[in-house]
Amino acid sequence: MTPLTRVLYPYGDDNYGVLLHCPDTLQTACVDCGDAYATQQALQDNGWSLTHIWVTHHHSDHTAGVFELKQATQATVIGPNRSETPISGVDQVIGDGDTFDFAGRGVQLIHTPGHTLDMMNFYLPADSVLFSGDTLFTMGCGRLFEGDAPTMWKSLLKLSALPKDTIVYGSHEYTLANAAFAVTVDPNNEALKNQCEHVKKLRDAGEPTVPTTLAMELQTNPFLRADDPGIRSHLNMVDASDADVFAEIRRRKDAF
Ligand code: ZN
Ligand code: FE
Repeated sequence: MTPLTRVLYPYGDDNYGVLLHCPDTLQTACVDCGDAYATQQALQDNGWSLTHIWVTHHHSDHTAGVFELKQATQATVIGPNRSETPISGVDQVIGDGDTFDFAGRGVQLIHTPGHTLDMMNFYLPADSVLFSGDTLFTMGCGRLFEGDAPTMWKSLLKLSALPKDTIVYGSHEYTLANAAFAVTVDPNNEALKNQCEHVKKLRDAGEPTVPTTLAMELQTNPFLRADDPGIRSHLNMVDASDADVFAEIRRRKDAF
């Protein structure tokens, strides 16, 4: 199986969209579309025709361009569609544990509520790629707009259980702010210090810090490390539950 070609493109203030293209079948998917023009431009730059639009959640920076892009390309839109937070243009509604076929490989859906209740992540085992939406970012996680901390912690545990070599695409470039916060709760983590240097260099060179890998996030992302003895003792929460430690880390980030 020829690996999918992946193209990352920025839009809006700090969003990333991704195009996935199969050189064999010529099928092309985009993950989220907050800006139809930006997606069309990325398609044109690569000479690809869009066949699928995958939507992670209902926020407008992920959906504002979906309907226009669908009209322009006739692409099939796959995503969540809760009645409380509808997404216009969704053709195929997906739920936790569903799988669908894209270019001859399976795409697994992982429901990760917390940032929103409709949040769906797209996992492609054959390519070791995860699109984590606004659930998991490089060194960070999404704010809790609709779910509570235990719900988000459970969602992050689902992602933590994926193979360590999984390539993780979060939807935003928030990494420098995430790194500045991470060292305040995990100050003795050498891997984290090294990674802070690395992401600074990337940003100074105008390079994205997305994608990351699950292995790197497990070592450096405080939101996946609520069970870490160093963090727990730093927060004076040695005997607290992991979910409570996660909640405290999230609370501190909100106030950072
Ligand atoms: Zn969002
Ligand atoms: Fe977002």
